[in-house]
Parts: sequence; structure tokens; C-alpha cells
Amino acid sequence: MKIGILSRNENLYSTRRLIEACEQRGHEYKIIDALRCYMNINSTQPSIHLKGEDLVGFDAVIPRIGASVTFYGCAVLRQFEMMGVYTLNDSVAISRSRDKLRSLQLLSRKNIGMPITGFASKPGDIKDLLGMVGGTPVVIKLLEGTQGIGVVLAETRKAAESVIEAFMGLKANIMVQEYIKEAGGADIRCFVIGDKVIAAMKRQALPGEFRSNLHRGGSASLVRITPEERKTAVAAAKAMGLHVAGVDLLRSERGPLVMEVNSSPGLEGIETATGKDVAGLIIDHIEKIVSSPRTRTRVK
Ligand code: ADP
Ligand code: GLU
Repeated sequence: MKIGILSRNENLYSTRRLIEACEQRGHEYKIIDALRCYMNINSTQPSIHLKGEDLVGFDAVIPRIGASVTFYGCAVLRQFEMMGVYTLNDSVAISRSRDKLRSLQLLSRKNIGMPITGFASKPGDIKDLLGMVGGTPVVIKLLEGTQGIGVVLAETRKAAESVIEAFMGLKANIMVQEYIKEAGGADIRCFVIGDKVIAAMKRQALPGEFRSNLHRGGSASLVRITPEERKTAVAAAKAMGLHVAGVDLLRSERGPLVMEVNSSPGLEGIETATGKDVAGLIIDHIEKIVSSPRTRTRVK
């Protein structure tokens, strides 16, 4: 097969691992920096060029699109779709996963468990908003935040009101969420490929910290997940239309709750914590799909 890896940097761990997995299986590959691509959009012969080269003959493209390049990265991916190339995750699914509000709305429609969540831009009544999510303590999140930055735990109503007012003053969109105390500063990252969770790790926050992000000093370890957690993670990826996803769950008294579904999940943390060859499993999955065209369905 000829596989395109849509990535800005071939030295990133995930990209390097995908290259290794392609090489081990004897596939041809090309690293494609979406921002350097230019496209010809027409109905007879859509094309993509990179440094003068016409990008043709690809069997599959693996999108590794960072949050900051979602718009153009998805445009290039969509162009490959127009050319009939199989893309591991569709551009539509990736762009929807980048919008936290839209994601939770899609998950709720499929009755997937999630923390009770309120959204607001300019709440006329902050007390009522807090009441909607069951009162304090609450977790307040900036919609644009990543890596745990812009995620605040407010234990009292006074604290919650001040934080919400401060974010409002900055004209930020926010999410106000029920605090899942019993998660104990841990979350579970389930790595989904197709309809299976192929690896799972637990991320534990530092003592005194509730955010388990590895960027915030959290540590990762192998974890056994329950059948219910497995089912929830697979259903969440499916509801988002993602073939490969990193689904983050909180363990709550009422079962697994989905916090986020990531469409370009990193490989370093999960491969290190679990010892699994996740990159290899991704390429195996592509081999399977590309060799049986009937399974090449798209979520619209
Ligand atoms: P980001 O997208 O910036 O990583 P998250 O929404 O994933 O932000 O939150 C960061 C971390 O904070 C999570 O990994 C989790 O450990 C913790 N956390 C987030 N929301 C809640 C919540 N509602 N209850 C308990 N812990 C939470
Ligand atoms: N076809 C998708 C659906 O109805 C589109 C919704 C979306 O992406 O927001 O689930």
C-alpha cells in the first residue's frame, strides 16, 4: 500500500512510530505537511500538490492534525476524500470532535454517560446556571482550553461565581460541569480502533491536584477496564464517527462518564504505559479496510 501520513513533523513520536509500522509491513509512505499543500478544486480531476509534486496513488491517509491547524488540515484531508482515498478518520468527524460543545451534544443524543454539563456565553443568571448542574463543587472549563489549562475546580458558590464572572469578562465561552469527586483525580484513556478498545491507561493526578493531564504532572499506568467502560468508549467513538479515537472517561458512582473524544490521540503515553504496538495495530486496521472495499463506509 501507499500510505500518506498527514503530519507537520516527522520527528514526533507518533509520526515516527507510524513510519516504523509502515516500514515493518513493507508499505510505501509519505509524510505530508498539510500546510504546505496546495489544491486544485474541480469536478473532473481534484488534485493536491506538495512542492511541485502531484500527490497521487495513495491507498490511505492517516490524519494527525493538531488543534491549531484543524481548519486547513481538514481541508486537505477532505480533498483526499474527494479523490476517493480512504482516510482513517474523516474530515467531518475530526472537525466535529474539535468542538467540545458539539461533541457532548452528539454523545448525549446517543445516551452516552457524561458529567452533567452546562454551557454558557453570557449567562443572565449564574446562580441558575450553577443550579442546573447540581450546585457546587463544579469544574469550570474554557471551551478553547487544552492540556488542562483553563480547567478550574470551584468548591464554593462564591468561588464559582467569581471564576465564571472573570471568564465572562474575557468574553470566553465556558462549560460548567458537575465535579466527579470519586474519580479521585484519575481518568481513563481508552484507545479505540474500529469497534474495539485496543489499549487503556489510567492517568493519575499529582496529590492535591484534580487534573490528571500528563502535561500537569500526572502519571500513566496500565489499567484493566470493565466491559461497561469498553462499551461506552466504543459507543462514544462511533457517535462521533471516528474510526480511531482516544476516549477519556471518568469513573463515577453511576458508571463511566465520557469527558472528551480525541480524534488524533497521541501514541507515546499509551504505548509506554501499556507496552502495546498501537502504531502497528493502526496499520493492520487500514490493511483490513483497504483490502475489503465493502467496509469502506462513511459516517455522514
Ligand atoms: P483538557 O481538554 O484541557 O485536558 P479536560 O476536560 O480533559 O481538559 O480536564 C482536565 C482534567 O481535569 C481531566 O483529565 C480530569 O482529570 C479532570 N477533570 C475534568 N473534568 C472533571 C470533572 N467534571 N470531574 C472531575 N475531574 C475532572
Ligand atoms: N451526520 C452527523 C449527525 O447527524 C452530523 C452531525 C454533526 O456532525 O454535528 O450525527
